[in-house]
Amino acid sequence: MKEYIEKLPMRAVKPRGDGSFTVVPRMSQGQISAQQLADIQNVVEEYGLSGIRVTAGQRIMIDGISASILQDVVEKVGPVGDVFPYKVHSCLGTTGCKLAMQDSMGLAERLEEFLKNYSLPTKLKSSVSGCSMCCAESMIRDIGLIGRKSGWIVSFGGNGGKRVRQGDVLAKDIPEAEAFEIIGKALDFYAKNAKPKERTARFVERVGVDAIKRAVFGE
Ligand code: SF4
Repeated sequence: MKEYIEKLPMRAVKPRGDGSFTVVPRMSQGQISAQQLADIQNVVEEYGLSGIRVTAGQRIMIDGISASILQDVVEKVGPVGDVFPYKVHSCLGTTGCKLAMQDSMGLAERLEEFLKNYSLPTKLKSSVSGCSMCCAESMIRDIGLIGRKSGWIVSFGGNGGKRVRQGDVLAKDIPEAEAFEIIGKALDFYAKNAKPKERTARFVERVGVDAIKRAVFGE
């Protein structure tokens, strides 16, 4: 079973402590097609599963799957798991929010693609909000982007876990290309100097935000 799971896309199946499995249908920025929803419903009904669970991370999970039906469920449920190693969350942005200043969903997709080039010491949580209401909670993510009329705010080193940390703003009102350049430099510095498993928030606390700024912007 382990071999089968390892051949699937990243984070497609999670083994649970009670011997059951959770299957994670593929979603991007919280979106799912009508066909995929129908496939999920059919699988839940066919195998008498308890239903689905929606997570805080904009995912659907199908729990309580036994080893004997795991492969069938994975094959019938449509695409599963993630394409990119570091998932980026976003709010609705200009796709449907009247307050939006920027296209947060589009930027989140491009940021996921950009981040695939990095190999980081541990997980990275990123989010993009389309305006300063910050509905995607970007200031408490490792990388946060917030849309303004004249560009993007970039923050680094936020964390929403048990030791909450507000990210440090590295730049304001800059275009997307510049935001990606700054994120890339901050991540290069982090990847090179962080301890194993050290999240960006703890890293910034240890080395100081000035060290991050020097790495990004020079002396
Ligand atoms: S952050 Fe702004 S654009 Fe995004 S959903 Fe909230 S109000 Fe709308």
